[in-house]
Order: sequence, then structure tokens, then C-alpha cells
Amino acid sequence: MDSILSALDKFYGWDSFRLGQREVVEAILSGRDALVVLPTGGGKSLCYQLPALIREGLVVVVSPLIALMEDQVRQLQKKNIAATCIHAGLDAARRSETSNLLKQGSLRLLYLAPERVQSKEITAFLQRKICEGNLVAIAVDEAHCISSWGHDFRPDYLRLGEVRRLCPGIPVVALSATAPPRVRADIIKLLKLRHPLLKVCSAKRNNLEYVMRRRQKEALAEVLEALKTSRGARLIYVRTRRSVERWTELLRDENVAAIPYHAGLDPQEREEALENFLNKDDPVLIATVAFGMGVDRKDVGMVLHLNLPASPEGYLQESGRAGRDGLPARCLVLFSPGDRKKLDWAIKSSLREKGEQSSNRELRSEHAFEQLRRMEAVAEGESCREQALLLAVGEISQPCGRCDRCTTTLLPQDRSQEAFTLLSEIQEQKGFGLSMLLEKTSLQEIRPKEGWGWLARRLVQEELIGESNDGSQRLYLKDSGRSFLLNPWPLLYSF
Ligand code: ADP
Ligand code: ZN
Repeated sequence: MDSILSALDKFYGWDSFRLGQREVVEAILSGRDALVVLPTGGGKSLCYQLPALIREGLVVVVSPLIALMEDQVRQLQKKNIAATCIHAGLDAARRSETSNLLKQGSLRLLYLAPERVQSKEITAFLQRKICEGNLVAIAVDEAHCISSWGHDFRPDYLRLGEVRRLCPGIPVVALSATAPPRVRADIIKLLKLRHPLLKVCSAKRNNLEYVMRRRQKEALAEVLEALKTSRGARLIYVRTRRSVERWTELLRDENVAAIPYHAGLDPQEREEALENFLNKDDPVLIATVAFGMGVDRKDVGMVLHLNLPASPEGYLQESGRAGRDGLPARCLVLFSPGDRKKLDWAIKSSLREKGEQSSNRELRSEHAFEQLRRMEAVAEGESCREQALLLAVGEISQPCGRCDRCTTTLLPQDRSQEAFTLLSEIQEQKGFGLSMLLEKTSLQEIRPKEGWGWLARRLVQEELIGESNDGSQRLYLKDSGRSFLLNPWPLLYSF
């Protein structure tokens, strides 16, 4: 057995590497930078942990979430590997314990919150480790957080560009589960990776079945049915804390022991919810998207979104928590056309919260709206769900054969005449949003409001028309809409 493989067996008790792991470990050991994009559950943590163990040195891991760090540290300590973390949540006792550990040469993994990297204590510590020849690598986990094109941008991550200067000559490995080409380019540029090994594995998951459909007005029956027909742990995502609480109550009234989870709970309640989700039989957890990063329960049989997800990238990450045991699992989205408006609003207020400069904010909100539209196009479109999702993150694949689109025959109809009428009205009545348009014209004599709303969204998704992002949702013709008016082509949509 070669030495890397025997280390895998010695420290983890595993007999083979997963796709990509070995190459990354070898790159780090040879001092090379790496960018690693492996799907959730693909085994990213091993890529940076094993080099520390083989070299008997230290790997510093930058990670965005306290829960995630704590969880990894716990798991390493269980294996008798010296690991610790530094973040704002440590009490005095933990802090002194940690600074003792920092003095010991046996420390293998140090997890840091991004804002800690440049603290005096840490920079001095890193210098010392470099001088001692003891620093094996710097790992940046969830590296997509550095890109403002990513779905989870964190301004704190931008400072990590300094790592290269602070630790010259030390390999940097960036890891993410979802990083489309544009985000990858950002990661390489901002972290200043040099000739990095690029290890990008397909995000395709052959055991997941995607189903997306309109949410009924009273969604409870649908949700109960979905719970009844799925196995293992179930994860239900809703948009707001209020909905977490409302759905917890609704389900408890139906004798489902639902576990609520959102960022508004106090740390102890969150810890408890997480414990319950990880350890109970067939738990049902209702959460905002604050939940999930790094949560490792393998037998999740269903991930259910009760709203339109905010982006294809985010959705792939959230739905990817299903079926990590390799058994068939379902990813269900129940959405409603009204979700978009609420999400638009949420995007605006979250950008305000992050306190960004207004020019940057504008750019990012445009990007966020774009992402939302792409997600909506997946949900309302005719294509294979998986193919459309993967395409949205820059991966080309064949239809999956498992999703609702692949397994049911659609009967699309040509909507070009109605589209022509709608586009003509938009051209005529410049600067109207859809509701004004319906009010001021005779469109509603042809078909009801709902239908026009749906058609307008499809035309936005297909970029025949555009929609202003300033909240007024005014519609305007795009180039391809103008060409369509001159020379219409069939528009086969199924509704
Ligand atoms: P990611 O961070 O990519 O989502 P993790 O590093 O948490 O994934 O690994 C996912 C799971 O796979 C973990 O439970 C881990 O113990 C397991 N795992 C990782 N690599 C291997 C391997 N080579 N053999 C067996 N199990 C592995
Ligand atoms: Zn499909």
C-alpha cells in the first residue's frame, strides 16, 4: 500500500479515495495551490485534513460558519487529532484552552473565522509556524463566498486576498461545492492562486429526483403527502422565521414532530435542534436557508422548498443535502408566482444590511435578480430540471431521466399569438408594469389575468422582454422581442 493510502486507512479507517481527493492531497503535499469544486458530501474536508496528518504539521482552515467549524473540530477530536477553532463565540475558558493549544507543535487543524486571519495574534502565530517549517497549507472552505457573483457573498472573505502575502510559499487550497466558471475565476484571482490544480467534479447526483410544481393555496395537504411518501430525515425550507414557526405549528397539529430552526433562535436552542436533527429517527426539520451548511446527515430522503429558491446555485447546494447515502431521494419545490416579488424585496433589504457601497450594491442586486429569474426559468420551464440547474451553473449534461420533466410527457402549445399581442401592447404602452397593462388594455378579454402573468414571466425568462429592477416591474421590449414582433416564431410552452 502506498503511503498516502495507508495514511487514509490509519487516520480514517477508509480504504479508498473518493473522486478527486487523492489528486488534491498530492498537490498540497507537493506545495501546489488548488481549487477544488466537489459536490456537497463529496468529501472536501479530507483534502486538506490528510496533508496535515501526513506531514505532522498544521493546516489552517478558514471557514464562514461557527457551527461548521465546531462540528469539524468535534469530529477530529473524536479521532484523537489535535484540532481547534477561533471565532467570536468563544468564552474565556475556551480562549485560554485554544491559546495553549496554539503553543503546542501537535496541533494539526486550526479553524479560523475569516475576520480572525489578520488579527495580531494569528499573524504572529502564522509567522512562527512558517519559520518552524510547520505550516503545511491554508485551506479556504466555502471559497465561493469571496465572489460577489456567488450566491453567498461575504465581504469578510475579501480580506483573504492577504493570505498570500502573510504566508508566502505556503500552498493555498480553495474549496466549494458550487462555483460556476465566473466564480472560479474570481476565487483564483482574489486568492491569488498560482498555477492551481483545478479539480472540478460534476454536480450531477444520480440518485436525486427533482420535482417542481405550483404550490396549492392550502399547501398543508401537499406537504403531508410529501412527508408520507418520503423516507429518512426530511428537510423543509421556508423563507422567513415566521413561516418556520407557522409551519412547525401546522405540522405539530397533524402529529408530525417538526423541529424548527432559524437564525433567531438562541444558540442553545439551535444546538438542540441540530442535535435532534442529527440523532432522531426520521426527523422533520423546518428551517430557513440559514440551516444546512456542513450538516452531515446522510439519510435525508427529501429536501422540500416551500418557496421558489433564490438561485440555481443556492438551490443545488440546498437540495444536494438529500440522499448523501446514495439511495434515491427527492428534491421537491412547491412555488407560487408571488414568491418572486417577496424575494426581490428580500434581496434589496439584505444588500442594505450588508452595508455595501451603492454602486456595488446596484451591480449585485442586478445579479441577484438575474439569478432569481434563472431559478424561475428552471421551475416554470419545459426542460429537464437537472439539466437546467446544471446549465445554470455552467455544466453541460444530458437529461437526467428522473425528474418530473423527464418522466411526464408535456403537451406544449404554441403561444406565439398571445405573445405577439402582449408584446405589441408593451411596445404601445411604454413604461407600464403588467397590472397597469391589464388595467389599461383589453388583454383580459382574451384570457384571464393569471395566464398573462404566467406568459409575461416566460417571456422575461426567455429574454423577449425585460423587467425593470427598481421595484416597479415595468416591462419593456428587448432586442429579441422586437425581432419577434417583426417576424414571430413558434413559442412552445406548456402551462
Ligand atoms: P463535503 O465537505 O464535501 O460536503 P465532507 O468532507 O463532509 O463532504 O464528507 C462527506 C462525508 O463523506 C463525510 O461523512 C466523510 O466522513 C465521508 N468521506 C469523505 N471521504 C471519504 C472516503 N474517502 N471514504 C469514505 N468516506 C469518506
Ligand atoms: Zn430530468
